[in-house]
Amino acid sequence: MEILACPVCKGDLVLNVVEENEEEIISGTLYCPACGEHYPIDEGIPNLLPPDLRN
Ligand SMILES: [Zn+2]
Repeated sequence: MEILACPVCKGDLVLNVVEENEEEIISGTLYCPACGEHYPIDEGIPNLLPPDLRN
């Protein structure tokens, strides 16, 4: 997985892997130190919606 940029500040995200296989990250979080926000990864898909737009 390429490292993605924070959708809020475009800063670098810190990847924290919870579960992965040989090919991809299954679940984990992407953390933005600048914003203090965590973005979840579920089923291999990073959810980079800003927190106030999530349902
Ligand atoms: Zn940020």
